[in-house]
Amino acid sequence: MTKRVVLIGHPVAHSLSGAMQQAAFDDQGVDATYEIWDRPPIGLPDAVTELRGDDFLGANVTIPHKERMVPLVDRLTEEAHATGAVNTITKEGKRLVGHNTDVPGFRFALDKLVGKQKMPRTAVVLGAGGGARAVVFGLITEGFQRIIVFNRHLHRAESMVKHFSRTAAHMELRAMPWHESIIESELAKTKVLVNSTSIGLTDDATPIPAEIIPPELLVLDLIYKRTTFLRDAEAAGCTVSDGELMLLHQGAAAFTLWTGKPAPLELMQRKLQEAREGGLRSAEGEPAGEVVAASAAGESTNGSGGTEESSGESAEGEPTGAATPD
Ligand code: NDP
Repeated sequence: MTKRVVLIGHPVAHSLSGAMQQAAFDDQGVDATYEIWDRPPIGLPDAVTELRGDDFLGANVTIPHKERMVPLVDRLTEEAHATGAVNTITKEGKRLVGHNTDVPGFRFALDKLVGKQKMPRTAVVLGAGGGARAVVFGLITEGFQRIIVFNRHLHRAESMVKHFSRTAAHMELRAMPWHESIIESELAKTKVLVNSTSIGLTDDATPIPAEIIPPELLVLDLIYKRTTFLRDAEAAGCTVSDGELMLLHQGAAAFTLWTGKPAPLELMQRKLQEAREGGLRSAEGEPAGEVVAASAAGESTNGSGGTEESSGESAEGEPTGAATPD
């Protein structure tokens, strides 16, 4: 019987995940189809009931359902429990297991960004949504000792900090109000800066002014394109990377959970890029259109425009077209 894997989101008409996962199933001889289910929140319980059927291998879960899925599955992995968000579901018979593969996806992106340097211990995180939860948990478990979270709505950052209070009991995790002067002063004390807001996703907006970005930071934007924020950070002399590796590796981890096979990473990366060039966008909302070859190769670019391991040109791809609405 052909097995089914579904991506549940709303809205989610097209997605980069479909392109990379179907290609991976076909390449690895897995008799399965990857389907897109656009289900509003009210339809989520019915979707979950359907998933218990024998023909399903599992699912991906995306905006806006990651947190809502937590009470609907039968078991949570440590990462899903710790983050309070589920982005992948596997089956144990009819029972559903909730995972969070954004966490290993983020860790992979962070490792590549840090490169051969020693893992830093201090980070500033912008944003407090589902993506930020994976980032903060990834940083805590990588051994960071000081993480400061800024969010437009301070109370959301404060609840996230509270959520992680036990996991972060041994270190300093704090929420601070979104004031430029406070952000600037914290940036002067940190090594890693992560944008996990959606600012810059659909336009040229940037979360913080270029002038307050100090040189030599390691800067990651979860958004899957070369944002104004990344351009500013690179111009300031920082080492930067976009969200492509996180997207690729969360997908690769999900593929392995469903199939028990190693993911064909190069193929999945190629399919991601082809789909993006073809105008699709990720279910996470990342617009299609830019090719960032350096980060696509798993390397971060530094302020001089070269990669960490070569002095070759960094890709400065221009948008090739408007995003297709999901
Ligand atoms: P959420 O909707 O859960 O959170 C959005 C965040 O952005 C919140 O912190 C929100 O602040 C902030 N924000 C949005 N608009 C503004 C604004 N105008 N001014 C200030 N803050 C704003 O989304 P996610 O956390 O799931 O996703 C966030 C980003 O991360 C998206 O761009 C998504 O594409 C990306 N992502 C990428 C992944 C990858 O694999 N590369 C994986 C997951 C996410 P507030 O709480 O105050 O509203």
